[in-house]
Amino acid sequence: MILDLKRIFANENSSLDIEHSLDMSDVDFMGNYPLKKPIKISGSVFNRASVVSLNLNIEYAFASPCDRCGVDTEHNHTVIVDKLLATAIERQESDTIITIPDMKLDVDEFVYSEVILDLPSKHLCKDSCKGICFKCGKNLNEGECNCETREVDPRLAKLMELLDN
Ligand SMILES: [Zn+2]
Ligand SMILES: [Zn+2]
Repeated sequence: MILDLKRIFANENSSLDIEHSLDMSDVDFMGNYPLKKPIKISGSVFNRASVVSLNLNIEYAFASPCDRCGVDTEHNHTVIVDKLLATAIERQESDTIITIPDMKLDVDEFVYSEVILDLPSKHLCKDSCKGICFKCGKNLNEGECNCETREVDPRLAKLMELLDN
């Protein structure tokens, strides 16, 4: 979706509401396609005293196996966008200003990159996830297994194996 914002730039106190959704189900994230549901976008562009602002709420659901135990897990994330729109490049580069010389904003492209930047580096079914036993593969959230080394860090376990031999 491309918004032509000439009218907003030309008229003080004008505004434009944005309600939109974006399909990002084809985004491959480490072998998964975690953005199965459409991205929800709502907000507005408005002109206050000749300053044009873009405010957006971008909501997305991230569905992927838990990093520790592998159970399918979905969490909702929100990206809050609060930027200024300018038609000419400012003297200083700024993260808060989007430059659109032709007064057109490609919402899809913008939202796409905002979501990609926001994708979680850690994805757990719950913060206290105990993970799986690296020896027998049991999901330790469902109960303990009988392996003696269950509480040992895998790297330490390797070392202990070496010491044993
Ligand atoms: Zn987990
Ligand atoms: Zn075990």
